Amino acid sequence: MKYIDEYRDARIARGLAKAIANCARHNWVLMEICGGQTHTIMRYGLDEILPRQIELVHGPGCPVCVTPLETIDRAIALALRPEVILVSYGDMLRVPGSDLDLFRAKARGADVRIVYSPTEAVTIARGNPDRNVVFLAIGFETTAPANAMAAWQARREGLANFSMLVSHVLVPPAIRALLASPENRVQGFIAPGHVCTVMGYQEYEALVRDFALPIVVGGFEPVDLLEAILMLLKQLEEHEARLENQYVRSVSCQGNLPAQRIMQEVFEIADQKWRGIGPIPRSGLRLRSEFAAYDANKVFDLELITADEPAECISAQVLQGLKKPTDCPAFAMRCTPENPLGAPMVSAEGACAAYYHYRRHARAS
Ligand code: SF4
Repeated sequence: MKYIDEYRDARIARGLAKAIANCARHNWVLMEICGGQTHTIMRYGLDEILPRQIELVHGPGCPVCVTPLETIDRAIALALRPEVILVSYGDMLRVPGSDLDLFRAKARGADVRIVYSPTEAVTIARGNPDRNVVFLAIGFETTAPANAMAAWQARREGLANFSMLVSHVLVPPAIRALLASPENRVQGFIAPGHVCTVMGYQEYEALVRDFALPIVVGGFEPVDLLEAILMLLKQLEEHEARLENQYVRSVSCQGNLPAQRIMQEVFEIADQKWRGIGPIPRSGLRLRSEFAAYDANKVFDLELITADEPAECISAQVLQGLKKPTDCPAFAMRCTPENPLGAPMVSAEGACAAYYHYRRHARAS
């Protein structure tokens, strides 16, 4: 299959691993931002074929993992109202809230429905004019255009029974916050290819300049990631710091301009709380005032619901690359995909789930 098979070719991957081994003369800590990239690394054992000088740490690019606990609690509170249909992606149903998750809320009679696109939520609202349909709209820049389109469509149709509980996060401010932290160890980043497909990669220039470290936009297949690592390594060993694009088959410098336009029409940049990490200035999106009628936080007066993270889950350190999932005492013991304590064990893009599925045996004893 074009653009798949050649990026999973073991012979090419081995050649890249050899080139990386030949290039690595010093120790380097590299971070892949995206949870999809983390899963590829674990699934194909890429970290195991790298030379010992390269340490890969995993970033906060899992949308389910960084959705604040209070957003989950708000969604559950809404779902338990008899007049509400709570609509969400399937991944969100098992994310633990303070007391229960959306699956358990559903078992208690809440009308929780799974969709595969935001426009399905609009369709549900259209078909249920006597109920309030709330779509749990989470994600990075990747999902923001489609979520924006749902609000835009609802407004165009004058749907009065549709709203969105929005928790949108942005990658560049999160990288800036990680780099500005005194605890930071990361010396080079693999930027998320799918986010850059939408947004382009101009925004990353300022990070390269301000922190003097290389960033390479990377894809999601094993060969993509090994190539991105080699590109980072060549720069680091030569004391260079540039922005490069490995994922040229999908990403252009400017990105998808129509998608950016609909995002800007519906959303504006706002401060955002990240689950585990805390607030990061200007790192999220909220609905513009013109779309206030579609903002579930305002429609249902949810802003009073707040929550504190459980102390046992160390996802804050995992999401910042400071600890590995196997460093968590609860990993594969009290925390499993069936009984998760934290979101990174639930999500298909969560680092803890990746370690559990692909190397559970490697848990530190
Ligand atoms: S293993 Fe579970 S408790 Fe530990 S950091 Fe991951 S999600 Fe949190």
